[in-house]
Amino acid sequence: MKKNEKIILTIEDIGVNGEGIGKAFGYTLFVKNAIIGDTVEAVVTKAKKNYGYAKMLNILEASPYRVPAQCPVARQCGGCQIQELSYEAQLSFKTKKVRGNLERIGGFSSQLLDEIMEPICDMKEPFYYRNKAQFPIGTDREGNIVTGFYAGRTHQIIPNTECALGVLANREILECIVDFMNAYGITAYDEETQAGLVRHVLIRYGFKTKEIMVCLVINGDNIPHADKLVDKLAKIEGMTSITYSVNRENTNVIMGKDIGVLWGQGYITDYIGDVKYQISPLSFFQVNPIQTEKLYGLALEYAGLTGEETVWDLYCGIGTISLFLAQRAKKVYGVEIVPQAIEDARNNAKINGIENVEFFVGKAEEVLQEQYEKNQVYADVIVVDPPRKGCDETLLQTMVQMEPQKIVYVSCDSATLARDLKILCENGYELTKVRPVDQFPMTVHVETVALLCRKDQK
Ligand code: SAH
Repeated sequence: MKKNEKIILTIEDIGVNGEGIGKAFGYTLFVKNAIIGDTVEAVVTKAKKNYGYAKMLNILEASPYRVPAQCPVARQCGGCQIQELSYEAQLSFKTKKVRGNLERIGGFSSQLLDEIMEPICDMKEPFYYRNKAQFPIGTDREGNIVTGFYAGRTHQIIPNTECALGVLANREILECIVDFMNAYGITAYDEETQAGLVRHVLIRYGFKTKEIMVCLVINGDNIPHADKLVDKLAKIEGMTSITYSVNRENTNVIMGKDIGVLWGQGYITDYIGDVKYQISPLSFFQVNPIQTEKLYGLALEYAGLTGEETVWDLYCGIGTISLFLAQRAKKVYGVEIVPQAIEDARNNAKINGIENVEFFVGKAEEVLQEQYEKNQVYADVIVVDPPRKGCDETLLQTMVQMEPQKIVYVSCDSATLARDLKILCENGYELTKVRPVDQFPMTVHVETVALLCRKDQK
């Protein structure tokens, strides 16, 4: 296969970045925007020894799973990858992905998975679910101020104020800001020259409280005529917090380090279940609150708490799972590496009057081992929610030594989940339940919750 060669192929799978995967003469090709079931004409853009990349030219026979994209810019935008795949087909792809990894990497039998795997937890309305959006502000070739999303893997702005994953209020807020910038000659930041003022707009929305936060990230100390902007923004229903963050660095990091309040409070409030959270522009907060509630509800259900248990919540972030579990446990210990997240976690415990939680800053693998060796800490249940790379092996060892009755594993990468479950199951545990959760519809990502029980204590 050579570059510029034209081929016809049928798409059979979806790659990690959402691209279609098919074969032509036994040679594997990755084709962007082609979906499972499509037969397409494509041109090879890059040919490696065993695989290559191709650009779709025509759809010769459309997949039965193909649907029109909700967003006019779905193909260019880097945010969604599989908007043109029907939601049903997305769910079955995600289920297969989790199951495939558990079989191949985890070594779990198909028969066992038939018995214990629960159907993927879906969304009734798989759009408009994100409570957070960060819009870059820039200038187009004609000199107009534009805002939207970066095209996949670039910093070219695709103008779009109506993202189908974001909340509807985004549009009005962005229009307000662009109008203000035009009216007062406020410039947009230019990454190449590092000149210009406004870099990004962060918008957050509390799904339960309907509170809105706007934070402008600026390359300067202040926003001239900010009072005029505030006048307009404050009139938007639900507006609770208008802030700015100074970021003068030449960096891909969006937010600056500090926040200045222009109007209202420096945070918004929202709920997951009955637990209240204060969310500042710099706080981490799950972006899909509807599915997060289901995900953590599932973790709680799997933990099977009666009120008597001691629970460790490792990789606890701002303590979302810890506080959820604390309502049904005797004591919860949370461990997280980012100190600000733990500050948020402690504050969230306080504003909810939850007193049976204690948080540690540090690496889960180090804190747990130290606490176990020095203080002989105990756990009935250990919950882990690690980043994509999964759990550190020494952590798995400590967990095995501690012999909790149950381990609840919340995962955002089913490959590392399968790897870690295999180790735990070789060391006294049994996989008893698994459920994928569709936390990010229209993207290739899938979350999974798994329950492990100690074989000798069942
Ligand atoms: N359950 C959390 C989110 C977990 S995301 C919540 O709902 O808020 C994974 C978290 O693990 C992140 O907060 C990340 O900062 C943290 N982390 C990464 N490596 C870690 C480590 N070695 N030890 C402890 N925490 C870690």
